[in-house]
Amino acid sequence: MKSTVTTPRVLTVLGATGTIGVNTLDVVARHPGRFEIFALTGATQVERMLEQCRTHRPRYAVMTEATAAAALRERITAEKLPVEVLEGSAALTAVATAPEVDILMAAIVGAAGLPATLAAAQAGKRILLANKETLVVAGQLFMDAIAASGAELLPIDSEHNAIFQALPRDFNGDFQQAGVKSLWLTASGGPFRSWSAEAIAAATPAQAVAHPNWVMGKKISVDSASLMNKGLEVIEARWLFNARPEQIKVVVHPQSIVHSMVEYADGSVIAQLGTPDMRTPIAYALGFPERIDAGVSALELMGKALTFEAPDTARFPCLQLAFDALAAGGSAAAVLNAANEVAVARFLDGVVPFNAIAASIAHTLDRLAGGAAATLEDLLGADRQARSVAGDYLESVRA
Ligand code: NAD
Ligand code: MG
Repeated sequence: MKSTVTTPRVLTVLGATGTIGVNTLDVVARHPGRFEIFALTGATQVERMLEQCRTHRPRYAVMTEATAAAALRERITAEKLPVEVLEGSAALTAVATAPEVDILMAAIVGAAGLPATLAAAQAGKRILLANKETLVVAGQLFMDAIAASGAELLPIDSEHNAIFQALPRDFNGDFQQAGVKSLWLTASGGPFRSWSAEAIAAATPAQAVAHPNWVMGKKISVDSASLMNKGLEVIEARWLFNARPEQIKVVVHPQSIVHSMVEYADGSVIAQLGTPDMRTPIAYALGFPERIDAGVSALELMGKALTFEAPDTARFPCLQLAFDALAAGGSAAAVLNAANEVAVARFLDGVVPFNAIAASIAHTLDRLAGGAAATLEDLLGADRQARSVAGDYLESVRA
């Protein structure tokens, strides 16, 4: 489609050096003149950031790690690139909320992405939200900030992007009025879908990050293996679409072709399908409301079988823990998220077994249920406490 945009939209990409960041810049590069990069951010990957600076010429490059920032600054100076290097977490908020910025791609992994993404919501930006942990930790606060500032929120997570596409364009969160009965989140089932509980308990990090259909960062790959990713997505859907927990259904669909569905009162089920490639939801949100080229290969349906099965919460307890945290309310989802982040990191380090992830989350939720969630400070406090409780628990079960 021919572009109708005349002046470029100004974009900041938080987490530019990650999987979603790289895919975002791939789509941007397919549309010269349509977007201008204000800032790119990363944590430690200097070489990749340098390469991105050469190609995209952002005004600012942020490295949150000071040593990485120093190394990048040296290289940028040596190459005489017109890019200013900033460091530290406060710089994330600065480049997310600067008045020049139209669009924020929020693609940092984990609760580390929350403060800058929340600040962009308060500043009324168009937010392309990949960082699902923002909604898990601070759903009410974040959605209130979006409503108060008039910010626009476009989901990048493939399931939520699919649901967004399958809902009426003017959907305002009123299920009754829109005739919406349920939201169906599809889940691939991850690499351990058909494994026994014993085999899952003994799974290695390499096995957990080997996702059958999607190439993703390590943390979300482990979350997919435990089904915690789907649990986080249930909480994400609750806030994005104002859904009650019982209106959110999960179905395992191992082919990852149906990206999610909306079930209507008249029995219609509207789904979005596509090749599993995150550039589709990214391009949808970058171009919205226009459809723009994403570089994604066409969906090949001939000869393909699409299958659907119920998730098994006995072998994958993390999914149920997420529903439990949602039911508990308050800061419980922040506690769930933080405990999960700590456990996944320890698992990836080879320090605890795979099934310690669910066990440590259950333990931490038991200890810390019922906290307040009214302010960012409440939530960051719950996050800190949960990291400490989960850390102690994981120390006690280390291999
Ligand atoms: P990734 O690990 O590939 O990249 C993470 C990015 O965040 C990197 O740029 C890294 O430098 C940055 N980062 C990490 N820790 C940071 C910190 N403490 N402070 C500042 N920056 C930090 O992760 P990803 O797969 O690109 O996922 C990013 C987000 O998008 C996650 O929230 C994930 O759940 C979500 N998401 C990813 C996919 C996918 O296909 N990869 C799909 C749906 C949703
Ligand atoms: Mg997803």
